[in-house]
Amino acid sequence: MRFFASFLFVLIVGCSVFSQDRTADLVILNGNVLTMDEKRPRAEAIAVTGNIISAVGTNAEIRAVVGETTKVIDAKGGTVMPGFNDAHVHFMAIGNTFSSMDIKDVDTPEKLVERIKYYVRFLPKGRWILGSGGSEALWKADAAVLAKALDESAPDNPVFLYNTDPASALANAVAMKKGGVKRAEGGIVGDGALERVRFAVPRDHTSRWAEIAETATNYAASFGITSVQDVHSDDMAEAYRELERAGKLKTRVYDCISLSDAVAKKLSPPKNDPASMVRTGCVKGTHEGDDESTPKLLADVIAADKAGWQVAVHAIGTRTSYEVLDVFEATIRENGPRDRRFKLEHAEGISANDQKRAGKMNIIASIQPYLFGGGAGFGSGYYLGLQNAGMKLAYGSDAPMTAFDPMLTMQAADQTSGISVYDIIRGYTVGSAYAEFAEKNKGTISSGKLADIVILSEKVSEEKANVGNGAKVIVTIVNGKIVYGY
Ligand SMILES: [Zn+2]
Repeated sequence: MRFFASFLFVLIVGCSVFSQDRTADLVILNGNVLTMDEKRPRAEAIAVTGNIISAVGTNAEIRAVVGETTKVIDAKGGTVMPGFNDAHVHFMAIGNTFSSMDIKDVDTPEKLVERIKYYVRFLPKGRWILGSGGSEALWKADAAVLAKALDESAPDNPVFLYNTDPASALANAVAMKKGGVKRAEGGIVGDGALERVRFAVPRDHTSRWAEIAETATNYAASFGITSVQDVHSDDMAEAYRELERAGKLKTRVYDCISLSDAVAKKLSPPKNDPASMVRTGCVKGTHEGDDESTPKLLADVIAADKAGWQVAVHAIGTRTSYEVLDVFEATIRENGPRDRRFKLEHAEGISANDQKRAGKMNIIASIQPYLFGGGAGFGSGYYLGLQNAGMKLAYGSDAPMTAFDPMLTMQAADQTSGISVYDIIRGYTVGSAYAEFAEKNKGTISSGKLADIVILSEKVSEEKANVGNGAKVIVTIVNGKIVYGY
């Protein structure tokens, strides 16, 4: 027995030495690492092996796992934290905001170049850049300068932009070629040439989901957003998986389907690997406060909850929230206790009594402080009140209803009395991970978790709301891969 024990000891020690010997694939050094892990809140450096965070420690500790093939990122004192997880987005709609371009205010070729290049940053190659609203001054610009602006700013994307009067348009060389127009460079088109280019535009431009999802994921990566919870209920998981198979998905997506659809079709939630890029398992309903719809909502929530779905319901306002909490309470009574994590989308205007009731039921408040002006409409310290009442806070944007950039929410800390930058980062990482049953896999920078990481240019203090001092996203890492920057 003793021999066996010491044999086992050698085996264990041997293994740990072996794993320490292994060099990491990627390390981040010189960081102000906000781990959001209570066991080790601060660190200087991180090692990543495969898609997993393999070590968190001091610069010296992490340097020890740097080998010849290790990619080394110097954070230069910037903040390193878990990637943002936006708990409420309409992801395809975000991608679709790039499906048209407003050029009303574009009056010079320089401004046109700037506008087109911004779109090109996020669009997949080949996707059309369509738009309208040109100013007279732009149309009068020097033809050679205009041609250069159109062709050099988008060498891989066809550009086709209508004038205010749609009898003329701007097209670049790529668009001319697609339309079979025999012109070597871009410029103003009218009559026959305009018609030919127009016919080359895909009719399903705004429903080419693979391209739209790719745009959305590129855009998310630029903001350090590594996960989104898509509450648009349009069942797009397959489109996201297709993008993943093509190696282009840069965002983890938790895709919610419609509550009433799931119930009508008697669907059951699929079993997902919690570490996968695309997961499903939630249904989303809406309550606008009309009494006639409450019995149907109750029946649907009971049925979906019984089938094992996570249920999210949109509710804004005191009375509506009260009614949805009644539905949640009745469902718990009917189906019995389980770890169900009901999600109240927006959670604006919940009364003090209902906040306590929601806290007891472990309801998630899916909040969007930037959209709702820091919760100021319901008195100062509203979000802190939700937190103190025991509700679990998950942060998000509701983009494209509002800006997708989580830094704007961080800046809203100034106006949102009661909420610190620490609370916001925690809500946007740990809180959102909990809201999608993924807290074991992501949300903190800890050994063994998925390597979803963002590096910001500035040192962010958790105590002070100094995020407005120009902190920018330098690097975004998803699943161990650099998807933005560097
Ligand atoms: Zn929404």
